[in-house]
This record gives sequence, structure tokens and C-alpha cells, in this order.
Amino acid sequence: MAKLYFRYGTVGSAKTLNLLAVAHNYRQQGKKILLFKPDLDVRFGKEHIRSRAGLEMVADLLIAPGTDLLSIDYQDIDCILVDEVQFISPLHIDQLREVTFLKQIPVICYGLRTDFKAKLFAGALRLLEVADSIEEVKATCHFCNRKSILNLRHIDGQACFDGPVVQLGAEERYYPTCYSCYREQILKSKEMALSAKA
Ligand SMILES: [Zn+2]
Repeated sequence: MAKLYFRYGTVGSAKTLNLLAVAHNYRQQGKKILLFKPDLDVRFGKEHIRSRAGLEMVADLLIAPGTDLLSIDYQDIDCILVDEVQFISPLHIDQLREVTFLKQIPVICYGLRTDFKAKLFAGALRLLEVADSIEEVKATCHFCNRKSILNLRHIDGQACFDGPVVQLGAEERYYPTCYSCYREQILKSKEMALSAKA
């Protein structure tokens, strides 16, 4: 049976670069692949899958709420690669799971495990439940040299642990962090909030 893979990592772990390298290898061997991504990532122009290193490919399909992944023509397809899979609904993860079984095509998914509040994304949760293979794409903490496991959010240079996922008009950045540095930043930001009130 073809397998469902979940390759997860923090921000800055070169997940997309990894995906594009796999896609390139398949194509060089004359094999056919399909590239999927959720229909909400508008950072680089909707249909592009672009890594921070500057490489890019065009997605074959943007997965929207009404998309039926079981009704697509998979004739001669050797592999399906999915980027930003954390934003894909559990329903669509289940459809990808069915594709590996019914169409005998491996599906390799890349994405984040948790959000900036250290909570699982819905797509990541479903993959942890049903994937055959779960692999970590490693990265180093932004603040020290340990392995990063969390994604720290900064808004206007301040660590931020609540609020909406999209904050308009503010400059936001995400940093890969280890647990120790994440914890330190939480404490700092709470102390600053307290001293601002006093
Ligand atoms: Zn650290």
C-alpha cells in the first residue's frame, strides 16, 4: 500500500525547500507528480510554492473548502506533495489518506506541527493520527544552538502569545525556538505587561 507521510518542522526548517527538492528529483526521473497547497497562503502569489531560499514551483491545485480530492484524475501520477499542510482540514487529510489506498499513490505532506501558542494545527493533528510515517525536519533555535520545537511570534518586536492569527498593520515575525527560549520570552513579555500596568 502507498504511504501517507507527515514531515513536520518549525518555521525556518526548510520544509518547502525539502518539498521542492523531492519534486525536482521525481521530475528528473521522468515521473509525474502533483503539487497541492491550501487556498489561503497569499504571501507569494497564490499558486506558487516558494521557499525562503528563492526556489519556486507552481501548485497544480489549491485545496479550498469545497474541493473533493477523490474526484481528481490521478492517471499516471507517481507522487503527491502537499505544502503548508497544517492549514488543510481534517476532512481533506482523510481524503488524502484514501487516495494512498484507493489510487496507490504516496502522499508526502510538509507543514508546521503547532501554532505560536504551542497548540496543534487541525491538519497536523489529523496527520499525527493517521500518517504511516512521521518525520521531523530539524532546525536550530533562533536564540541558542538547541533544536527548535516551537514557533515564537513577535509583533512589532515583542513576543506575543495571544490575539488573532492575523494582525493587520503590525509587523509580525516568527522565530524557531527551543522550549527554554520560548519560556524565557513568555516570562519577559508577562513581566513587561505587568510593569506597564503598574
Ligand atoms: Zn533556544
